[in-house]
Amino acid sequence: MDKAIYDVVVVGGGAAGLSAALVLGRARRRVAVIDAGAPRNAPAAHMHGYLSRDGLPPSELLKIGREEATRYGVEFITGHVVSIEPAFTVALDDGETLRARRLLIATGATDELPGIPGLSERWGRDFLHCPYCRGWEVRDQPLGVLGTTTDSVEHAQLIRQWSDDLIFFAHSYDLTDAERDQLEARGMRVVDGEVRGLVVHHDRLRGVVLGDGRTVERTALFVRPQIRPRSTALLERLGCELDDFGFVLVDRVGQTTVPGIWAAGNVANPRAQVITAAGEGSAAAISINADLTHEDVQDALQKAQQTIS
Ligand SMILES: Cc1cc2nc3c(=O)[nH]c(=O)nc-3n(C[C@H](O)[C@H](O)[C@H](O)COP(=O)(O)OP(=O)(O)OC[C@H]3O[C@@H](n4cnc5c(N)ncnc54)[C@H](O)[C@@H]3O)c2cc1C
Repeated sequence: MDKAIYDVVVVGGGAAGLSAALVLGRARRRVAVIDAGAPRNAPAAHMHGYLSRDGLPPSELLKIGREEATRYGVEFITGHVVSIEPAFTVALDDGETLRARRLLIATGATDELPGIPGLSERWGRDFLHCPYCRGWEVRDQPLGVLGTTTDSVEHAQLIRQWSDDLIFFAHSYDLTDAERDQLEARGMRVVDGEVRGLVVHHDRLRGVVLGDGRTVERTALFVRPQIRPRSTALLERLGCELDDFGFVLVDRVGQTTVPGIWAAGNVANPRAQVITAAGEGSAAAISINADLTHEDVQDALQKAQQTIS
């Protein structure tokens, strides 16, 4: 590979990284996208809520994104970035290194699920978290919400919008009387006791199994997972500040607290949907290009002055 310096190395080729790469490629910057190939929404068969692409398989969006960016000379490298040295040398797990003037980190996030047997196999199918992603598809069905965190009750109140038949499984969450009243006031049933597993038949969720052996018929179960940003250790070592939950601190255009490094998508914003992540990638790209242009001006001035003297 040509070892010349890239204008921008993008780490992570999901919606945020690809969107940035497209904008930077069109701005005639030399760009490489390094991607480990595990986008957060990979378990879902369809992606919803992305204007003009509603219902598209997530992998198809990424395929189209890569094709578009490739037209403008963006290079793609499959691999895992394992370290980044200041100003900037990016090292991959196969020993390859790339040099870059600027970095965009778009490594996304992962979801930590409760350790109930069988849950992870149903993730993104009928074990769900986001009503904006899948609420419409399971509307009016017998739904459940698993109580795990202080957000779980609020989550149930939200999901109530999609079905009149909603059960709150208290599971590991200690409901207050006020929360119980709030749930019941909107017609939700509370089922106390630990959830032990799921009943799955013909590859579809049929019910939720409780610790005492009872089965409650349900066709989809929602949870608020713990969302953990990915690969932030790379940034911490460079001095980038993280928030209290470990997400990268950025300004409105994605600039981190370290000059030359931007972050976009779920690694900085746990609430980002695919379209938001793409938007943040685009905003970061425009900011990066402006910053590079500023440096180009300084370099040109310096060269001009050297020529005169
Ligand atoms: C089950 C499920 C279904 C969802 N459905 C929807 C939906 O219908 N609509 C919607 O809008 N949102 C949906 N979401 C949310 C959606 O997944 C995120 O909004 C989106 O993935 C964020 O994009 P991103 O580019 O920030 O990160 P990602 O899409 O996760 O991409 C990050 C990429 O970076 C790579 N990476 C990480 N670390 C490294 C490293 N060190 N080196 C190289 N590469 C690295 C990863 O492998 C990955 O390919 C869903 C989420 C889940 C969990």
